[in-house]
Amino acid sequence: MSYQHSYAHSIADPAAFWAEQARSIAWYRAPAITLQDNADGTHRWFGDGRLNSCYLALDHQIEQGRGQQLALVYDSPVTGAQQAYTYLELRDEVARLAGLLSQLGVKKGDGVIIYMPMVPQAAMAMLACARIGAVHSVVFGGFAANELALRIDDARPTLLLTASCGLEFDRVIEYKPLVDRALQLAQHQPRHVLVLQRPQAQAPLQPGRDLDWAEALVGAVPVAPVVLDAGDPLYIMYTSGTTGKPKGIVRENGGNAVALRYAMHNIYGMQPGDVWWGISDVGWVVGHSLIVYGPLMCGCTTVFYEGKPIRTPDAAAYWRVVQQYKVNGLFCAPTAMRAIRKEDPEGELLGQYDLSSLRQLFLAGEKLDSSTHQWLERVTGKPVHDHWWQTETGWPVTAPCVGLEGSAARPGSSNRAVPGYHVRVLDDEGHLLGTHQQGAIVIALPLPPGCSQTLWGDHDRYLQAYLHTYPGYYHTGDGGFLDDDGFVYIMGRTDDVINVSGHRLSTGEMEDLVARHAAVAECAVIGVHDDIKGQVPLALVVLKDGAGTTEAQLLADLVARVREEIGALACFNRVRLVRRLPKTRSGKILRALLRKIADGQAYIPPSTLDDPAVLQEIETVLAELPKAV
Ligand code: AMP
Repeated sequence: MSYQHSYAHSIADPAAFWAEQARSIAWYRAPAITLQDNADGTHRWFGDGRLNSCYLALDHQIEQGRGQQLALVYDSPVTGAQQAYTYLELRDEVARLAGLLSQLGVKKGDGVIIYMPMVPQAAMAMLACARIGAVHSVVFGGFAANELALRIDDARPTLLLTASCGLEFDRVIEYKPLVDRALQLAQHQPRHVLVLQRPQAQAPLQPGRDLDWAEALVGAVPVAPVVLDAGDPLYIMYTSGTTGKPKGIVRENGGNAVALRYAMHNIYGMQPGDVWWGISDVGWVVGHSLIVYGPLMCGCTTVFYEGKPIRTPDAAAYWRVVQQYKVNGLFCAPTAMRAIRKEDPEGELLGQYDLSSLRQLFLAGEKLDSSTHQWLERVTGKPVHDHWWQTETGWPVTAPCVGLEGSAARPGSSNRAVPGYHVRVLDDEGHLLGTHQQGAIVIALPLPPGCSQTLWGDHDRYLQAYLHTYPGYYHTGDGGFLDDDGFVYIMGRTDDVINVSGHRLSTGEMEDLVARHAAVAECAVIGVHDDIKGQVPLALVVLKDGAGTTEAQLLADLVARVREEIGALACFNRVRLVRRLPKTRSGKILRALLRKIADGQAYIPPSTLDDPAVLQEIETVLAELPKAV
């Protein structure tokens, strides 16, 4: 099947296209109705279909003869633990845990919060919820008590599952005190807290409420998957919105199963029996789509890695895992690759490992700058693909479709729209823009299966945030443009566009230029106040180790480069060196925070900030900038 044909079919007749895709799912009852319109602009996929996501991920794979195949391999360089589970073993663990959850009173439709590190029990917990129709909400292990409390009050869980600790390369982070604090802050109280005791820390248990995971499992009776409606929620994934209250993105069972199967085969080119590594954490959407549900529903072996790109123990950690498990395909965020590059710029460490199993690498989560892109292709000798998606969509919007004929790539582009996504570009008034014209990237409705159609307990907020800005379109919040062949160029969130003397400029574009300088390890370009021009760009730059340049020299180089490639209108003449940039725990540079500091606005460090200590240097560096009056 060719990309062109699939894409055209998916846009011309979405219902027929997805009805065909849905046939490859082992439904309990295949849907007779594929697509229904709701009056408010949202859509319903596979309305009368019946299925169970845990059944598709485990039992069905066993029925297909994959019982003895490895389903999940766990690798934890900090503890030295390595453990493998076949599909049969994983199914048995999950069925027993699901039995325990039922015994503890968790029913279909109940919320369950999972606040756990990257241990296999976290995946088992997700799948156990899916088995009995409970709605899990995994909260990233690093979130502070207050953020956890917000999510507890929103998801109103019957049960909370946690572990005694998470592990960084140099320290043990105890989770239980955070859970206890969150439960003091929250109005809602789960009936029980199930605690996995890890050898690195022993959590004190509150009698009556808290249960020891291992003890509670003794005698638990395995249960079979329950039959669910396609529209029943599988999980809630909280993501930050414009207000302090996180948005509970809801993923439905039916659309998710069809979309992920489609993505694993056609985008990532994975086949049953392949080894797939989604390098992320179960606390993020990637952890749901590309660590747990996607690879297992596709009959792959999923690598479950509790480590870092560097320092566990070195910058070759990823390559060691690829060699050891014969990984065929992987997903990663660019930030991790930049960290590796900083420590192993010539790929000397990488060269010590056999990467022959690896077919390609997929990067997303933030813009893949061309410098990192080229470096990664050079040192690995493999195709490296940029692709673009969001927590809301749950699977890629633009991507190479390596499983389809005619897949292509173009430097600087996150590739073409995936079949199912009708990507358009609009101006502020909602008019369609032509190719190469920069504006708001939107997706014409209906969104394909798998994309969130509501927010947990707040449907109006969903409509307001995503569908009301441009009627008939889903508002992605990203800006960019399309070229004549349909390749999409993401230039960053729409609020990353700056206006210099009336010219709209993308900070992403400038970042790309700056990052290509040989001395630059990482950078962020933000718009800062200028009395005459409104805004001017400022580059905050982290140099590569031993880069051997001065701030003045770098400034001269970069000004010349931006002038040459973007033009004098960019008014690019500010560069400051910093040791680190403030980032979220998932590795995104906090540009909005940088903008606030640069503008001298009051700010509260966001709870997602990786390391608050980094702000001191940034504040000092930005203090001397002129501010708006
Ligand atoms: P999240 O929902 O946290 O995964 O963030 C989604 C946002 O990350 C998108 O709306 C984009 O702003 C950004 N993003 C993700 N992938 C890419 C990419 N390949 N290029 C540029 N930005 C990206």
